[in-house]
Amino acid sequence: MSATLGTLLSQLEPTWKIAIFERLGDVARESSGPWNNAGTGHAALCELNYTPERPDGSIDITNAVKVNEQFQVSRQFWAYLVGAGLLPEPKSFISPVPHMSFVWGADNVAYLKKRYDALKDHPLFAGLEYSEDASVIRSWAPLLIPGRRKDQPIAATRIPAGTDVDFGSLTHTLIDGLVDNGASLKLNHRITGLRRDKKSGLWHLKVKHDVGLTALEVTARFVFVGAGGNALNLLQRSGIREIRGYGGFPISGQFLRTDDPAVVARHAAKVYGKASVGAPPMSVPHLDTRVIDGSSSLLFGPYAGFSTKYLKTGSYLDLFAALRWHNLGTFVGAGLKNLPLVWYLVTEVLSTRGKRFRALQQFAPTAEAKDWHLITAGQRVQIMKRDANGKAAIQFGTEVVAGADGTIAGLLGASPGASTAVPIMLDVLAKCFPSKLDAWRPKLVEMVPSYGGTLSENEKKAEATIARTAKALAIHP
Ligand SMILES: Cc1cc2nc3c(=O)[nH]c(=O)nc-3n(C[C@H](O)[C@H](O)[C@H](O)COP(=O)(O)OP(=O)(O)OC[C@H]3O[C@@H](n4cnc5c(N)ncnc54)[C@H](O)[C@@H]3O)c2cc1C
Repeated sequence: MSATLGTLLSQLEPTWKIAIFERLGDVARESSGPWNNAGTGHAALCELNYTPERPDGSIDITNAVKVNEQFQVSRQFWAYLVGAGLLPEPKSFISPVPHMSFVWGADNVAYLKKRYDALKDHPLFAGLEYSEDASVIRSWAPLLIPGRRKDQPIAATRIPAGTDVDFGSLTHTLIDGLVDNGASLKLNHRITGLRRDKKSGLWHLKVKHDVGLTALEVTARFVFVGAGGNALNLLQRSGIREIRGYGGFPISGQFLRTDDPAVVARHAAKVYGKASVGAPPMSVPHLDTRVIDGSSSLLFGPYAGFSTKYLKTGSYLDLFAALRWHNLGTFVGAGLKNLPLVWYLVTEVLSTRGKRFRALQQFAPTAEAKDWHLITAGQRVQIMKRDANGKAAIQFGTEVVAGADGTIAGLLGASPGASTAVPIMLDVLAKCFPSKLDAWRPKLVEMVPSYGGTLSENEKKAEATIARTAKALAIHP
């Protein structure tokens, strides 16, 4: 997120000084690290949680269209950066990997067919295919069929326009570009406090070198708290009123991974299933091709769990450190309201290796335990806040929280995530620099031609934009 915002700002205001402080020894070692997330270019092409079934049985595609629009914004910005020579060969961070949804059971098959009918004629979902035929599905993803009961009703959709994104590689390249253009990057430097001087309006940041333990103080006109799961804690320390009442619900995750070339060669897709009843939307199981550093692996999961850490490398005290008088009610209310979720996560933590493996075998019935190993993913800190009716709730999205005067902003929440970094950071610009937007508009439109509008409203424009960015990013099938 910080790398994206820094890159946008350096294009809009090349003379501004940018300083980046990272508490670890390298960037992208938390959620943005390639093995800490699933690398799905989230465009709602295959994720069923974005197309819920309404009580009358029809399919609501509102969220799917919104997420796809957001991903098109990221694609346009990345295509601009590649064209301007600011990002290297696109294959270093983005790969074409077809996206599939796969379900079993008569009810789920009926749902998937309705979803297909609702999306197939939409310009952002052009090319979506549907099948209930095992031989067709096998030709799309060979691991899914062998070993499966012949009488089991199954169905799948496939869209070749899907992507796998190495957000770690992307982050490194963007940060390198910023440093080459004069930004300073201080690794092993932890922000421990931030305070705004009322007289000068400047922010004073307390920074600690985590190795030498030396302390320094820096001043800034604008601060972006791009601290991932730790953003809640730092925004609280800034003292801005806007963060009052917010809490953070941490969800940990694990994946099964195989690098065995014989297994990897039999699967070239991201295949998303249906979440089990009571499971949070981000724990939808999926069997994914990952392309990292030029080689392919398979990932299955995530297996969600509960840990009180807000970062993978954080402390078990993180959750307790976020408790304040003003958010105590939110924590208690949201916790009590979501007891089934807490129970689900606890049972997931206690789940045996055998049970976890059986979840993979529901996708790939002939999978063998010897070929797979467990890896620990990043932490997702879901937003806890009061809804419009004042009721505490957990929110499975992201939200930019900015100070009233626009001199500080941070990002809470985790989904859809890194795929939508560009529209989220454009939101930060709109919230924090409203008086600059008119002057910036021509450059913003040059970088993201659909800026300020949507692609759905114009079929020809959608088609042309998708084709142009696919070519620039070398992801056309
Ligand atoms: C299991 C899992 C699967 C996911 N799958 C996907 C996916 O398929 N597709 C997708 O688009 N998104 C996915 N996401 C979400 C995506 O990974 C995140 O939204 C994104 O990486 C967040 O980026 P960020 O820059 O906000 O945070 P991070 O990448 O976590 O970076 C925050 C940085 O801030 C540093 N930091 C924290 N505190 C301090 C401090 N006090 N001082 C200095 N530095 C500090 C951290 O060390 C870290 O480097 C997934 C996430 C998880 C956990």
